[in-house]
Amino acid sequence: MRYGLENRMTTVARDRRLTLPSVTSSQQLPFNSNTKEPIVSNAKTADVIIVGGGVAGLSTAMQLARRGSDVLVLERDQLGCGSTGRAAGLLGQLRGTAEATRMLIKGIEIVRELEQMADVEIYVQTGSLRVASTTERAEEITELVGMGQSIGLQIDDLSIDEVAARLPYMKTDDLLSACYCPTDGHLRPTELVDAYVKLGTKHGVRYELGSQIERLVIENGKVKGVRTSNDEFFAPVVVNAAGPWSYLVADLAGTVLPTAAIRHHYLIVQPDADCPVDVMSPAVRDRHLRIYSRPERGKLLVGMYGAEPVGCDMSELSPDFDMSSMSISKDDSYVRDVIEAAQQRFPWIRRDREMIVTTGIMTFTPDGKPFCGAMPNIQGLFHCAGFSGHGIVQSPAVGVIMAGLILEGRSSFDIDAIHADRFFDVPSYRDRSEIESKCQEMYVSYYGRVERPIS
Ligand SMILES: Cc1cc2nc3c(=O)[nH]c(=O)nc-3n(C[C@H](O)[C@H](O)[C@H](O)COP(=O)(O)OP(=O)(O)OC[C@H]3O[C@@H](n4cnc5c(N)ncnc54)[C@H](O)[C@@H]3O)c2cc1C
Repeated sequence: MRYGLENRMTTVARDRRLTLPSVTSSQQLPFNSNTKEPIVSNAKTADVIIVGGGVAGLSTAMQLARRGSDVLVLERDQLGCGSTGRAAGLLGQLRGTAEATRMLIKGIEIVRELEQMADVEIYVQTGSLRVASTTERAEEITELVGMGQSIGLQIDDLSIDEVAARLPYMKTDDLLSACYCPTDGHLRPTELVDAYVKLGTKHGVRYELGSQIERLVIENGKVKGVRTSNDEFFAPVVVNAAGPWSYLVADLAGTVLPTAAIRHHYLIVQPDADCPVDVMSPAVRDRHLRIYSRPERGKLLVGMYGAEPVGCDMSELSPDFDMSSMSISKDDSYVRDVIEAAQQRFPWIRRDREMIVTTGIMTFTPDGKPFCGAMPNIQGLFHCAGFSGHGIVQSPAVGVIMAGLILEGRSSFDIDAIHADRFFDVPSYRDRSEIESKCQEMYVSYYGRVERPIS
């Protein structure tokens, strides 16, 4: 498999423990939104510069601009051309922790507002199922459903007969239990980007495309701006929202961001004519088989968090690298693994079927949670990256969180678990190869481990 990337296949131990440092409260406000002297806005200056025009940067830009900030988004290529343009968009609100679940519940409310304000249809509310074919996974579902219900998520057990009736194209005779959340579904990434940009533009966000940041300008420990190959832009705040490239942008500031870029694939398969996939069929998560699925215009989309992640060295990609040009053959061994796993739940999926295989690059962190917020060592530098396969669905709430952190130094969300500085100064999170192996370990255990909910 060659994409001009260095492909490394690493199988990692699953149960390695992560040492979390205590969270420092390091917020130093570069300006106070109520008292700051406005910077005279011209093409070269802004209150906030956002590096990266994916969903994370665009949502943050839009929320800041709605609150009166002058925001400039600098994107190396086109808006949405990174991971955002490759995403499947699945939104399952039930997560392993109460705060992560709450963030997604709130995210849907924000999306519904965006749909109204931007007049764009973003959310497809198909509902979703988690299914269990082992007792461990059945217990996992019971415990997670209990946690979800305790915080007001509409979710309940569903009998296997009912599952079979709703998904006639899915094998159900080996299932022990299932749960159903009617308010889950998927977001359309392109439409989400459209909405962020439409509302951002309305509130004055400026977007400079084809602007690759090559330097961060830092003086006396404070951010002053950024440089591209032929230009310079000034702002007291720079947000690193560069997705899989985010660790390289952090390098520019001489700081370490423990993220790693990891390949991910999904299939879109044509079903049998006599067993169609309804466009509003529920999404399915089968964590034992490591697969997820959802309807896609009469076809079935199936992806997998496999046990053998493939990392990417983003520094080896050419400046004009376009993620949408990535391709992979269905004969590739990683894709064969996806097909085999998919076939166990959807036996009609075979390699000789008509199918499209989509491949892209995700950004993983050692604990599967993003890095949102300021760094203690450089005033004005904020990270907003590392969404570990869930950046589309986290982005609506993340924009609100980032705007709060930048303008007020706090958020109304419980963000203890996602602070950008949580691994700061931890020696084992400084070396690239160690970081990569921890992030890959996380990718493997993402569906691989049995979750014990934390409420
Ligand atoms: C195959 C696949 C399936 C996925 N499925 C889902 C899903 O079902 N649900 C979900 O929620 N998420 C999913 N994701 C993950 C989701 O796509 C990401 O979490 C999300 O898009 C991250 O957004 P971002 O803005 O952080 O990064 P990106 O979208 O990658 O944006 C970063 C941007 O920064 C730009 N950039 C980088 N370096 C520089 C620089 N030096 N100067 C200027 N610009 C720069 C890049 O060009 C890019 O446009 C999937 C991802 C993949 C690859």
